[in-house]
Amino acid sequence: MKGRVIKSTGSWYKVQNQDLEVFDCRVRGKFRTKGIKTTNPLSVGDWVEFDFDSEHNAGIIHKLYERENYVIRKSVNLSKQAHIIAANLDQSLLIVTLVEPPTSHGFIDRFLVSSEAYGVPVILVFNKTDLYDESALDELEFRMLMYRSMGYKCFSTSVEDGSGIEDLKAELKDKTTLFSGHSGVGKSSMINAIQPGLGLKTKEISVSHSMGQHTTTFAELFNLEIGGSLIDTPGIKGFGMVDMHLEDVPNYFRDFFKLLPDCKFHNCKHINEPGCAVLEAIENNRLSPTRYQSYLSIIEELQEQGPYR
Ligand code: GDP
Ligand code: ZN
Repeated sequence: MKGRVIKSTGSWYKVQNQDLEVFDCRVRGKFRTKGIKTTNPLSVGDWVEFDFDSEHNAGIIHKLYERENYVIRKSVNLSKQAHIIAANLDQSLLIVTLVEPPTSHGFIDRFLVSSEAYGVPVILVFNKTDLYDESALDELEFRMLMYRSMGYKCFSTSVEDGSGIEDLKAELKDKTTLFSGHSGVGKSSMINAIQPGLGLKTKEISVSHSMGQHTTTFAELFNLEIGGSLIDTPGIKGFGMVDMHLEDVPNYFRDFFKLLPDCKFHNCKHINEPGCAVLEAIENNRLSPTRYQSYLSIIEELQEQGPYR
């Protein structure tokens, strides 16, 4: 039977077949991912081939279909290993907020850059617009213009008053969408609004927020009634810069991209080189300084990290 991994909890996998029946499965044999060392052989979103063993009332996965794409995160303990968060994504949705709590430019840009590297299109969702005052609304307009001009789809939503949710929902139809966002931005509330009945736990923001709260880090795939599915990634804020080469980073900044041929030196790092088109664009207000800040901080992180493999 062909199926899709919808949840993984270590050695057991929940696999859904084409009739949306769900089976508890184990793995037979070894599955390797080319080029990286991973802590999990299979991830949510994987397409697999499995047999049902009625004697043990469990499925046995014996084949992994090649992944179209996948996103990974550096493993916390084993720095040389990576954890595959999800695979076979049509798009990735990042929920951000300008207030309560404000999401930093750096975080958004980092997410965009890694998504470019993974080849996964991003939808940016600015949530909690019901709480925005005049200046936050100005900033919202500015940021949406900026990211749209780079080709990213942007939506503004409020789970509280329902605005924007239907438009966003239409983007999810028949697609596999990964949901990400910092804790507190309204990801669970949004998922419940998009697909009522899932009953994901939402939390009140409180001072003791980070203490004693049990958050699972297992991603899970949910089917959408309108067609398609979403993958929730609780406890995962973003992706790591795994497998990214320093010299590729400028290519992942969409607003840098068209400037790059105009740099005087073909190996320009856009830091302090003479005749740098990126630095010139910042001077002339054609490139946002916050984007450039994000660029520098990613470069710095990669330099500290050293060669990954
Ligand atoms: P998560 O950590 O991203 O899953 O966030 P939750 O869904 O748990 O939401 C965190 C808090 O923000 C909860 O108190 C929600 O009720 C609240 N919240 C979510 N969306 C909105 C919104 O659009 N407007 C307002 N005012 N509050 C929201
Ligand atoms: Zn340059």
